[in-house]
Amino acid sequence: MKSQDIRAKYLEFFKSKGHTIVPSAPMVLKNDPTLMFVNSGMAPFKEYFLGQAKPPNTRLTDSQKCLRVSGKHNDLEEVGYDTYHHTLFEMLGNWSFGDYFKKEAIAWCWELLTEVYGIDKDILYVTVFEGDEADGTPMDQEAYDFWKEIVAEDRILMGNKKDNFWEMGDQGPCGPCSEIHVDIRSAEEKAKVDGKSLVNEDHPQVVEIWNLVFMQYNRKANGSLEMLPNKHIDTGMGFERLCMVMQGVQSNYDTDVFTPIIREIETISKTEYGKDEKVDIAIRVISDHVRAVAFSIADGQLPSNTGAGYVIRRILRRAVRYSFTFLDQKEPFIYRLVNILSTKMGEAFPELKAQKQLIQNVIKEEEMSFLRTLDQGLVLLNGVIDHASTSVISGEKAFELYDTYGFPIDLTSLILREKGLELDEAGFHAAMEKQKLRSRSASEMSTGDWTILIEDAIQEFVGYDTLEAPVKITRYRKVVSKKEGTMYQLVFNLTPFYPEGGGQVGDKGYIESSNGNVTYILDTKKENNVVYHLVKELPDDLNDILKAGVDATQRNRTSSNHTATHLLHQALREILGEHVEQKGSAVHSKHLRFDFSHFSKVTNDQLQDIEDFVNARIEGKLPLQEQRNIPMQKAIDEGAMALFGEKYGDTVRAIRFGKSIELCGGTHVQNTSDIWHFKIKSESAVASGIRRIEAITNDAVRDFYTDNSRIYFEMKELLNNAQEPIKALQNLQDENSSLKKQVEALLKEKAKNLKGELKNEIESIDNIQFLAKKVELDAAGIKDLSFELGGTLDNAFLVFGSEQDGKALLSCYISKGLVESHKLNAGQVVRELGKYIQGGGGGQPFFATAGGKKPEGIAEALEAAKNYVVNA
Ligand code: ATP
Ligand code: MG
Repeated sequence: MKSQDIRAKYLEFFKSKGHTIVPSAPMVLKNDPTLMFVNSGMAPFKEYFLGQAKPPNTRLTDSQKCLRVSGKHNDLEEVGYDTYHHTLFEMLGNWSFGDYFKKEAIAWCWELLTEVYGIDKDILYVTVFEGDEADGTPMDQEAYDFWKEIVAEDRILMGNKKDNFWEMGDQGPCGPCSEIHVDIRSAEEKAKVDGKSLVNEDHPQVVEIWNLVFMQYNRKANGSLEMLPNKHIDTGMGFERLCMVMQGVQSNYDTDVFTPIIREIETISKTEYGKDEKVDIAIRVISDHVRAVAFSIADGQLPSNTGAGYVIRRILRRAVRYSFTFLDQKEPFIYRLVNILSTKMGEAFPELKAQKQLIQNVIKEEEMSFLRTLDQGLVLLNGVIDHASTSVISGEKAFELYDTYGFPIDLTSLILREKGLELDEAGFHAAMEKQKLRSRSASEMSTGDWTILIEDAIQEFVGYDTLEAPVKITRYRKVVSKKEGTMYQLVFNLTPFYPEGGGQVGDKGYIESSNGNVTYILDTKKENNVVYHLVKELPDDLNDILKAGVDATQRNRTSSNHTATHLLHQALREILGEHVEQKGSAVHSKHLRFDFSHFSKVTNDQLQDIEDFVNARIEGKLPLQEQRNIPMQKAIDEGAMALFGEKYGDTVRAIRFGKSIELCGGTHVQNTSDIWHFKIKSESAVASGIRRIEAITNDAVRDFYTDNSRIYFEMKELLNNAQEPIKALQNLQDENSSLKKQVEALLKEKAKNLKGELKNEIESIDNIQFLAKKVELDAAGIKDLSFELGGTLDNAFLVFGSEQDGKALLSCYISKGLVESHKLNAGQVVRELGKYIQGGGGGQPFFATAGGKKPEGIAEALEAAKNYVVNA
């Protein structure tokens, strides 16, 4: 069965059991402080499990893109070395939110695997949680009994807490699970070793394919468990592993999910998969990583230097390293695989197809820059090797190469090994640990339990309509971090505060108690659909009705920038073309930033047109037309554009100003005229094919013009109120450069005269032409004079002193012949004479200079210079 059909069968099966098929959520999480990437099927549904949002149906099914490269789930180092872990993979899931539970989940799982897919029962094992005495969690008897009805008892195995108990984090919903394992070894192998003994033992042909989680408990901050009132089902089956079983192969990489990419790698790199283990690992790494990188770029996450972007950059670099080292690819080539990837997966994931060009460009650019790093690193490493005094290279040096220059450690040790040297690995790890500790202690944070003041409170956001409201605190908790100290998060029954999201900053403001005490709201954020407000101190009466007020000035400026962002987006698509897509935006009160796809620099004329376009719409006084809770499809039909990498619900909010229509949760002005004016401040590149515009509106434009016109008038005054200041400035510049030339010529002339005068002052001592003299020249002038004068003399010994800006300067010139015949050294002379001017210096045996901070000592130094000649 083809992989496409395997995926479709899964979804169809659960549809037939009353589930709604939903698309994969974007893999890159934008507003979750606890997680960078979706790492399991349940991540996008967290808020449903926590009861903070209502799912569209109590039964859902999907195939979710997952990435396991950081945090709790990190399989990166396995990938390539084994045949069944990927960075990016699809997790097939069926979900029950307080609907069916163990009985149905177990029965349907078995029906699908054995009847629909027709997998032989004799290659399957199931596991059940055995219980944990230490924390008193009982065995999952219930699951065991359901399994017993359909599976032979000798194929049901008991599993421990590590494998068979699932937790969302330190706190929150959790429960026992049952896993399905397959044994796809040959009959011969099976006869030798009992499959049972290989389950959960990392055997490449006895692997877990499906995990059924029975969420029945809630873990509290103190570690204790309580029963959940509503129990849930969360299942996850590895799609690529299922394909391996269904297609009768021994490795995920031999399924049709990977073979087309592998064939392409073989063709481009002129290698063959399956001949040499090192090459095979490299090919698996590359075929896996290109998927992860391409999907995340499609989801809007470009490689970068921080956060999620850095993780993506590291994945790509890992692929480049393997292709550089084991496939001998010294030129970018991974980007060339995007074509086949988009052809094969573009049906199921249209974002790949739509953004193919961008993905290729970004990957190619990254490859080029990392290949340059590798080149530079090789040079640096060779330097280290050349200067090595022992056969062990210091771990700190290797860490510096790794940390500062991005040169991979495994490549360092490989190269060292080839040269018969060794890396001090312990030293490297120690340096690494030290750095980790430094960054960890800065971000450490502890979160307390919620204190619930009002049970089951549903929160309402009223901030689109009002900036003030009477509110009650429904719950709060304490958060302590090294960086910010103790803070509290407050949740209200309703709130006018906009929480950070959709690129827009969170509102600030205050809450006022009935006794008049005021507590400042420092920021507003959202986690799992709950809006919380950050305060330094709790209000004195937590049960009070509080007057909540948003900082209106800030909010209005932010709204103004948000509306301008929409108009800018419209302008860009109108003026640059339809290929422009939003790639990120930041809406603050003081400025806005908008990143978009476009392949060349935006010219000054285009920027002017864009600015004019937006300002025309501001002058056009377009009113805000807002539609809340309209069906997604209706908004799309009306012309709204959905962005890749954004997660939308079934109903959306559409914001329209004239012909600009966007799906947006942010705050906006009532009329575009409130923006007052729009001004672009800069246009730049952020990555290959991605440009950035920074702009300001409203008060910020007013300040900008006020500042600039003040500068203009001051400048004009300095230019004697010239009618045409620019022309006057140009004249000044011209005049300045011609004066410079004149000065240079005069100085040359002066030096020539000086040379003539000084020649007459030269003393001949024992056949040495000696002169020690104070002159009014700078260092360069002294050098010129020394060489010009010295060049005309035999056996010259010239010492000059000069005072420049309160500092002393000494020089010594000795003809080369004299250096040799009399064993004289100008460097030594200036070092010794330098003492008179409280300074030091050096240079070559025939010319050296010294600087010092005591100009009064120059005379003495010149006096002393004679001794060298007299005693020579
Ligand atoms: P394993 O022990 O094999 O790493 P897991 O216990 O981490 O698996 P779960 O977190 O239970 O796996 O995820 C559910 C399913 O997702 C697994 O049964 C497996 O089929 C699949 N899966 C997990 N990690 C990966 C991965 N890195 N690549 C491909 N599939 C995976
Ligand atoms: Mg795992």
